[in-house]
Amino acid sequence: MPDIIDLRSDTVTRPTPAMRDAMARAEVGDDVYSEDPTVNALEAAAAARMGKEAALYVPSGTMANLVALMTHCRPGDEVLLGDQAHIIRAEVGGAARLGGLLLTTIPNDPDGMLDPAAIGRAARNANLHHPPTTLLALENTQNFCGGAVLTREQLESQTEVAAGLGLRTHLDGARVFNAEVATGTPAAEIVASFDSASFCLSKGLGCPVGSLLCGDAAFIDRARRTRKLLGGGMRQAGVLAAAGLVALHQMVDRLADDHRNARRLAAGLAELGFAIDPASVQSNIVALPVDDAAAWRDRLAERGVLVSVLSARLGRLVTHADVSEPDIDEALDRIAQAWPVPV
Ligand SMILES: *Cc1c(COP(=O)(O)O)cnc(C)c1O
Repeated sequence: MPDIIDLRSDTVTRPTPAMRDAMARAEVGDDVYSEDPTVNALEAAAAARMGKEAALYVPSGTMANLVALMTHCRPGDEVLLGDQAHIIRAEVGGAARLGGLLLTTIPNDPDGMLDPAAIGRAARNANLHHPPTTLLALENTQNFCGGAVLTREQLESQTEVAAGLGLRTHLDGARVFNAEVATGTPAAEIVASFDSASFCLSKGLGCPVGSLLCGDAAFIDRARRTRKLLGGGMRQAGVLAAAGLVALHQMVDRLADDHRNARRLAAGLAELGFAIDPASVQSNIVALPVDDAAAWRDRLAERGVLVSVLSARLGRLVTHADVSEPDIDEALDRIAQAWPVPV
């Protein structure tokens, strides 16, 4: 069996030696008492980086979104979001089940956008028969739209409509630093028009665990209570948070390498005859049309290339810190050898 090249997700990244070192040396305390100095330092660094007053460290991106929705809204409220949003496609319906929220979807365009006019049409007016529409949730980069990157202007064309309707706004920025690197716009500017924004440390930034939810101080105070409600209050979490501080210092700029590798991969796949335009790859995710995605995945796994399946005819390949440019070329060689060749 050749060495495995794992392109399923950027979540497979392992902590760097600098992270392991920082984790071993981390000063800790009880974070439920807000007494863990390393968690406090990470929350301060995250808030500064995102241009918000405060931040909250949570175990996962799923919890960051759930805490955000449950803190912005009350049970029975309606949240508007894209039909390709991670919140509705891949978070077990937690906002409905645990938050009592009605999730109403608006189609995502292939570039990840929601039509601003459609947001205006979807929001309900105050009427005895209606659930209150209280929140618009967007995502950047847009995972299930092939890692599509939205610019600050594109996001603001949507949040402006929300603001006009009196809705609050949340950005699922699991990969917002990929958007920062792809656009050259600092994350703080990308999220400036949102009441809250989250990001993941455990994806392209390479940490073992963790996400940050950012917003104004009063919101984060209330979010801290929601996190406790959901069982996300951790104790000496500084051991984990220490890796996050390393990530914010050392792992953001290198995301450009992942984007370059994703385009190289897409260009190689196009040369092999796959129906993909390399110019459509905007960040570290390649969504690839294939005849039978599950069979293709299994065939590649036999050759030590791991990919994931988005739908019956769509595979997904994700570049990250633990795959190099030579790994991409090796993966392309193995993909070329795998049968059946796509049409
Ligand atoms: C991965 C991801 C999440 C959830 O993060 P987990 O840490 O896996 O729970 C949320 N939103 C988007 C867009 C993601 O890609």
